[in-house]
Amino acid sequence: MTQATRTGPVPVPGLAPRLFVMLGAPGAGKGTQAERLATGLGLLHVSTGDLFRTALREGSALGDEVRRYVEKGQLVPDALTVRVLTERLGQADAQAGAILDGFPRTRAQAVALDALLSVRSGRVAAALYIEVPSAELVRRLSSRRVCADPRQHVYNLVSRPPRVAGTCDIDGTTLEQRPDDRPDTIRARLERQLPPMYEVIDYYADAGVLHAVHGERDVNEITDELMRLALRAERRD
Ligand code: AMP
Repeated sequence: MTQATRTGPVPVPGLAPRLFVMLGAPGAGKGTQAERLATGLGLLHVSTGDLFRTALREGSALGDEVRRYVEKGQLVPDALTVRVLTERLGQADAQAGAILDGFPRTRAQAVALDALLSVRSGRVAAALYIEVPSAELVRRLSSRRVCADPRQHVYNLVSRPPRVAGTCDIDGTTLEQRPDDRPDTIRARLERQLPPMYEVIDYYADAGVLHAVHGERDVNEITDELMRLALRAERRD
């Protein structure tokens, strides 16, 4: 078949076959754990939420497209999200692989990811799900603060307060609440985002790659368990 008549996913140059998906509701701690896992496994940490927030800050065309969804706590449409993720995974620093954080958020995104990976004979090695009850999620999310620096260092007034109230320990900028972390937005966000997330969980359970960990305990214990699960999954591949 020639390139012109090819149907289905187009190969993404350099798309990495070592791929892990981190699942969990907003506030489950998946960002922190994804970062630690990425360091531990020597992989890139890719957060679609971070990609969208960067676009918003930079005022790019993508930022304009996603603003109305992100600021209201709504999911960005699948086609746009998949496009952004595909572009990111095609970049040079994603060659060794990636820990995906906040993607896939819908079953359609999970299907699109599989299609993308199959072009390089890759697959999701493991989907790691951090389980936290809803009441605890609301408590955690409304306590979250981020600094004004573009790197957005994250604090939590309950579990990880800054040394000086209202100020980033690392760069001294003012801490602020993200618009999508206000309590009314959080509830709207959970109501909208949990049902599709459960579909994604079912999708990976059916594929036999889902691993759930209990998320209400010491952050280091969770990292250790996730690392063990990820390494075991890689050995099976
Ligand atoms: P997060 O930091 O992962 O909570 O993402 C922040 C916001 O970005 C979400 O509330 C959504 O509006 C948007 N977003 C991030 N990832 C996705 C995704 N995979 N699909 C759709 N929207 C997303």
